[in-house]
Amino acid sequence: MKLKKPKAIIFDLDDTFYSYKEAHAIALKKVRLKLNNEFGVNEKIFTKYYDLENKNLKKILQNTASSHNKFLYFKKILERLKFTPYIRIAIELNNLYWEVFYNEMTPFPYLKEFLIDVKHSDITTGVVTNYDASYQFKKILNLGLENEIDYLISSEEVGINKPNKEPFLKTMELLNLKKDESWMVGDSLKHDIEPAKKIMESTTFLYTNSKKNITNNNIDYCFSSYSFMRTVLSNLG
Ligand SMILES: [Mg+2]
Repeated sequence: MKLKKPKAIIFDLDDTFYSYKEAHAIALKKVRLKLNNEFGVNEKIFTKYYDLENKNLKKILQNTASSHNKFLYFKKILERLKFTPYIRIAIELNNLYWEVFYNEMTPFPYLKEFLIDVKHSDITTGVVTNYDASYQFKKILNLGLENEIDYLISSEEVGINKPNKEPFLKTMELLNLKKDESWMVGDSLKHDIEPAKKIMESTTFLYTNSKKNITNNNIDYCFSSYSFMRTVLSNLG
């Protein structure tokens, strides 16, 4: 396949720029330990309630950004624990979670170098992501990538999560993109690759940290290191 220089490269954020799973696990552990150390809340019960609320809130809030809202998870867990009054502790748990989370985020190797190459090539960069805009902005800031990302479109501002078409249509509108003018880089076939191919007619790059080559009609390239993306870009000439 002959690649042409894109007008823009659109990225997913979580598990595409850094490991969400790792940062989340460490942040959640800190919250669990705080409740255990200060109030004797059993860690297994906390985990059980977290999993229950994870399912529950995703069902109630469906495809909205709020379905991932950690503050709501902690509020609902405290209610299940019959922890009252809970105004202050709910805020403290949320603040602790995010403080640890932001600290634990590390960009994947060569991502920053790739993004710098992209900027040198005069290609616009955008992030399209499921969650509240302000938290996602802070993630970019804490990854040290604020100068490399031109735009961020969140599901919060369009009212519905990927893989629905709205976040992608908003991205095209904001970046003034016609079809077939962008590349999409993401870790999820369902949430990033398939909708980008269908809606934006992007050339698609699936990031996988398993080194396993995943094949699918909607994936143009599968890669496991951003050094590959640097080579692809430099070969455009
Ligand atoms: Mg992702």
